[in-house]
Amino acid sequence: MEEEKCVFCMIANKKVPSKEVYEDEMVMGVLDINPASKGHVIMIPKKHYNNIYEMPQDEFLQYISVARAVGYAILLSLAPDNVEMLYTKELTKGSVTPHALIHLIPRYNDDTVNHVWQPQKMEESDFTAIGNAIKSAIEKVKAAEVPQTEKKAVEEPKKPDNTVKEEKPQININRKVVVF
Ligand SMILES: [Zn+2]
Repeated sequence: MEEEKCVFCMIANKKVPSKEVYEDEMVMGVLDINPASKGHVIMIPKKHYNNIYEMPQDEFLQYISVARAVGYAILLSLAPDNVEMLYTKELTKGSVTPHALIHLIPRYNDDTVNHVWQPQKMEESDFTAIGNAIKSAIEKVKAAEVPQTEKKAVEEPKKPDNTVKEEKPQININRKVVVF
């Protein structure tokens, strides 16, 4: 889809109003107007990508780090039981999202979010064949363009602590994310 016609580009460029909660030079975080639960935020890269796999590695690492920080801020401020970080190509009712997005969905005991699936029957040979196909593709991905500079130590994510709700959420852009 062309950027001019993409609603998420319009939101990111402020051509249409949105309920913004976070913004930096690269990413916008807005409250979803059709939320799965209270506090559902969508993280929108300002640059148009059809999906997260088109994003350059360094941009994605920055993006996912900001998404995690905003997710943590949701935990601190709304005290849900959890915040799911979801990448999907579909919005509600099966319509495909034209722009890469990460959803941050707070989960509460009494919410109506439903990710139930029917476990698929697979033979041992299916597991082997599928596992091997993925492993072989991982080798191709590794060989392609994972920048060595990103292979740094893992920084442990802060453990959410619901007893300190007054604590100011820190939005840190953390590039020390492990990839392969
Ligand atoms: Zn777009």
